[in-house]
Amino acid sequence: GTSAKIIDGKAVAKIIRDEITAEVSRMKDAIGIVPGLAVVLVGDRKDSATYVRNKKKACESVGINSFEVRLPEDSSEQEVLNFISGFNEDPSVHGILVQLPLPSHMDEQSILNAVSIEKDVDGFHPLNIGRLAMRGREPLFVPCTPKGCIELLHRSGIVIKGKRAVVIGRSNIVGMPAALLLQREDASISIVHSRTKNPEDITRQADIIISAVGQPNMVRENWIKPGAVIIDVGINPVQDEKSPRGYRLVGDVCYEEACKVASAVTPVPGGVGPMTIAMLLSNTLSSAKRLHNFQ
Ligand code: NDP
Repeated sequence: GTSAKIIDGKAVAKIIRDEITAEVSRMKDAIGIVPGLAVVLVGDRKDSATYVRNKKKACESVGINSFEVRLPEDSSEQEVLNFISGFNEDPSVHGILVQLPLPSHMDEQSILNAVSIEKDVDGFHPLNIGRLAMRGREPLFVPCTPKGCIELLHRSGIVIKGKRAVVIGRSNIVGMPAALLLQREDASISIVHSRTKNPEDITRQADIIISAVGQPNMVRENWIKPGAVIIDVGINPVQDEKSPRGYRLVGDVCYEEACKVASAVTPVPGGVGPMTIAMLLSNTLSSAKRLHNFQ
């Protein structure tokens, strides 16, 4: 039977959004400043458009201003760079987000490098990532998805310090920064990736697993130590005739099996996804506070 606690990311994210709403309004009342987020979307990928729409809606819901730029797929890199430098200079913009992936003719690295580190609410600037990796340094921003995973653990009362944590996946936007964050929280980390032999031998040692792979139902019961905590970042469409869209979303972890053996599990959807957006709002608010010296 089911024994794991279900970690309700949607509910936790709602609490965080309410806290942000209160802070945004306190700041507006005190100094007349409203935090602002600029989003740059290039091309017409459906998933990217959905993410951008959700981020804009989330901004509205907490009282943060959002500014959106949509550029056609065949725009030049220079056009994107021009918008970024405009936002870098614009005092009403406190966070700049470039929706990834960019069209293949653009150099992602030079575009991400162009975002002012003071407005890098995605935390993807190499200076912010570098500081995240170094002891005694503080990044101005931490990437939203891994930050959301850690916040979810904290707010669920799960101790990280001294634990064995395994991160599955090593991407720049999720896996790698998740591992760095867990290490900063005093976990001992291992990282599993596509070249790892017998990954289940490693994941079975973990007290905490964060999975960010993009493979439906990859993590099975025999990958999980009884009592482990499972944070499932994966968002994978699988065919489903019963759904009106013809598909549904599942995580990287076989949810039913994880529920039997783990002590706590995040669902997909409704786990990490809502936390990612809450962390984006939180990063935008703290950026506005920092840029206007407001505590
Ligand atoms: P990437 O494709 O950039 O990275 C996937 C990682 O998983 C890589 O490091 C890859 O290894 C590893 N990997 C692939 N196949 C295997 C395998 N069979 N065994 C072990 N490791 C494997 O994906 P992202 O990090 O961008 O995203 C991961 C997932 O998280 C996706 O499903 C995505 O949709 C979701 N996501 C969810 C978010 C949320 O808000 N909830 C936000 C961002 C992403 P290698 O490095 O060797 O190639």
